[in-house]
Amino acid sequence: MIDLHCHTLHSDGTDTPEDLALLGEDARLSALCLTDHDTLGGIPAFLAMQPRVKVRLMVGTELSCRFLGHSLHVLGLLVNPADAIFQARLENLRGRREDRNRRMILRLAELGCPITLEDVQAHAETPLLSRVHFAEALATRGFVRRAPEAFERLIGDDCPGFVPRDELSPAEAAQWIREAGGVPVVAHPGRFIRGGFRWDEAMADLQQRGLEGLEGYYGEYRAAEQKYFVTLAAKLGMVVTGGSDYHGANKPGLRLGRGRGGLQVPDDLLDRLETQQKLGTY
Ligand code: AMP
Ligand code: MN
Ligand code: MN
Ligand code: MN
Repeated sequence: MIDLHCHTLHSDGTDTPEDLALLGEDARLSALCLTDHDTLGGIPAFLAMQPRVKVRLMVGTELSCRFLGHSLHVLGLLVNPADAIFQARLENLRGRREDRNRRMILRLAELGCPITLEDVQAHAETPLLSRVHFAEALATRGFVRRAPEAFERLIGDDCPGFVPRDELSPAEAAQWIREAGGVPVVAHPGRFIRGGFRWDEAMADLQQRGLEGLEGYYGEYRAAEQKYFVTLAAKLGMVVTGGSDYHGANKPGLRLGRGRGGLQVPDDLLDRLETQQKLGTY
């Protein structure tokens, strides 16, 4: 079994990269790809664990895009961590995130929930502040009782305190990832829009824009979703990947490699992914 989607405290997870590598070993995975949001910051410490574990440690990241008016996540799997252009592009994304964070602070103050960036930073071990850290700061300041309530009332996607980031287009994300030697993959398509979204045409459209794979196995899919997306990938000739989207304590009950319990991502998906990587078109 493999897991090609997980987070550390370099983005919105709670484990160190070292702990994540050890967890992958404990879970008896054969490969584990770290995919923190907008950063490769955890990668050096993660890869440095390789001599100590049998599980193959691999490099990735997760980028947010705007598609049909909603946020679509794209995994950049097997990117080259030494690629200077890609690093500069990620830094640009983090700048956009910081800008969004400052505007979210102003917006929350307008809504009667004044918190400071320092309050948010106090809940993060990384300079990459995400809404997970905002939620905890809002709870600490007493504007919500517990962090999940912040997503329900204040900073969830459809809430008054949510400020969107300036996000990439899927084509841009795909190009960045390809130019860094990686494979661009649509992350958790089943989580894109809740309800009856018709994916067949939209996925073909994304494929046209350079997306080469989709996450057919996911820590929070129902069995029917997994079947649907694995079948769709086969129909379109896209690569299938899979992962738990493990976030440590920020997604309670979701385990590395196993998701909510039933996840099993087959090893042979990695061979297909590596073959696809070599088919680079740039
Ligand atoms: P950001 O990248 O700052 O917009 O924050 C996005 C992160 O917030 C996601 O990766 C999730 O970890 C978390 N998140 C988003 N929506 C929710 C929600 N409704 N409940 C809990 N966590 C959420
Ligand atoms: Mn996340
Ligand atoms: Mn995601
Ligand atoms: Mn993720």
